[in-house]
Amino acid sequence: MIDKTKSHYEVIVIGAGVAGIYQIKLLADLGVDATVLDAAGDLGGTWYWNRYPGARFDSESYTYGFSFSRELLNEWHWKERFSSQPENLRYLNYVADKFDLRKYMQFNCKVDAMRFDEANDRWRLNIADGRELTCRFVIMAVGLLSIPTPPRFKGMDKFKGRSFHTFYWPHEPVAMAGQKVAVIGTGATGIQVIGEIADKVGDLTVFQRRPNWSAPLNNGPISVAEMADIRSRYDEIFATCSRTPGGFEHEPDRRGFYEVSREERQALWDRLYETPGFAIWLRNFREIFTDEKANAEFSEYIADRIRRRVKNPAVAEKLIPRDHGFGVQRVPMETHYFEAFNRDNVNLVDITETPIVEVTETGLRTTKRAYDFDIIVYATGFDAITGAFRSHRHPGHRRRKVTGLVERWSIDLSRHAGAWVPEFFHALGTAERLRLDELSAWHRDRRQLVHQVTSVHERAWLHPRRTYAGGRTTLGRPC
Ligand SMILES: Cc1cc2nc3c(=O)[nH]c(=O)nc-3n(C[C@H](O)[C@H](O)[C@H](O)COP(=O)(O)OP(=O)(O)OC[C@H]3O[C@@H](n4cnc5c(N)ncnc54)[C@H](O)[C@@H]3O)c2cc1C
Repeated sequence: MIDKTKSHYEVIVIGAGVAGIYQIKLLADLGVDATVLDAAGDLGGTWYWNRYPGARFDSESYTYGFSFSRELLNEWHWKERFSSQPENLRYLNYVADKFDLRKYMQFNCKVDAMRFDEANDRWRLNIADGRELTCRFVIMAVGLLSIPTPPRFKGMDKFKGRSFHTFYWPHEPVAMAGQKVAVIGTGATGIQVIGEIADKVGDLTVFQRRPNWSAPLNNGPISVAEMADIRSRYDEIFATCSRTPGGFEHEPDRRGFYEVSREERQALWDRLYETPGFAIWLRNFREIFTDEKANAEFSEYIADRIRRRVKNPAVAEKLIPRDHGFGVQRVPMETHYFEAFNRDNVNLVDITETPIVEVTETGLRTTKRAYDFDIIVYATGFDAITGAFRSHRHPGHRRRKVTGLVERWSIDLSRHAGAWVPEFFHALGTAERLRLDELSAWHRDRRQLVHQVTSVHERAWLHPRRTYAGGRTTLGRPC
């Protein structure tokens, strides 16, 4: 049981998702006096919040789990190749319980603001429950998709039915049978929801602003025998993941795009289209990402696949992106998504042609007509990457000439990629190992934490992190 009267820690970790759980495991092993704070009612981060139908991995489940404990790897059976939200949350709870980590965690504790108290050399954190906590180090494990972006339609508060952003999907089951449902948004989340609910609702109307390239997830169960095989190959699997740019199990085809015939390219794509996960994206020819002609040929291949799957040619054309090629942005993976549009109870509305004007008491109205709904689902995504950092006040660190995070990150994302604020770490990708090493080093010798990150480091980090999973990210824009 956490002692809520305790107000000072050596380290405070903000966020109890995958990253925060791992941070507190390391800190507990080191014997550091630490706590984890999360705005949520329980642990799990992404997998606590996103409970919408269809929410699941597009990473192979067994590549997503923690690798730090052989015992854990041997115990856990991933039941599906791409495991769903309930199972993922069960897994994270299992880990926390197995390593007795809950005792370090405090929930319903949103950090509203933090500032560095220079006189006393410590961070001061204001928690939404009114407490002020202090610590020497802050580790931000606040997530890159943890601040949802609901749309701002006129009249949203007037709707008499049920409506929610997918991030806030209710914990109790939502009865959808026979209901008239709207899904607004066809990004990664919308694509998952639509594929999952199309055959379970009365009527489904999909409001699309911009189609995304998408390809089959090809999910399936993992048998006991397959799981035993995976366990025997974990070292090899993790070695592959650490070699690949995105940390996935897929490596590109090393042949040159133009070195093989068009028929050979098509044969590879036919195989990849049937292969589970991001294979279609990441096992492809490297020129897909670098050569416009190669990308155009492959995009046309995927467009044809969409045309073959969607019976109504006009609808098929609307589902094919025109403003970007396949794979230059994160590719949402789908299950029966395109087939959903063959159903009589599913309609597609292109809101570039007929924009949504307002939400009404009974549904919503576009420039063309009014629609009645029982449920409106806002699948409108996230303020990706920087959102969680901007959701609390952080005025910076004056003595060390560090300006506020918001201020610096408003300039560009490069600052976000570096762990340049003294006594302030964030668990977000590239610099992660560096920071943890430093923290361990600091703990060995408490005077050792000297961290000079120069603009050269920032530039070095900027390059690979300029885009969010390949697509350009604009601060504050839904992703
Ligand atoms: C639907 C979906 C599917 C995904 N699938 C994959 C996948 O297959 N593979 C993959 O690699 N990634 C996937 N991701 C990305 C996913 O976010 C990461 O894999 C991972 O869960 C991030 O973990 P995290 O601990 O860094 O952050 P999160 O899980 O986002 O946790 C951050 C926590 O910080 C808390 N927090 C934020 N700000 C504050 C504050 N001011 N005060 C207190 N608490 C705060 C939040 O409440 C949250 O619980 C997916 C994301 C989504 C939304």
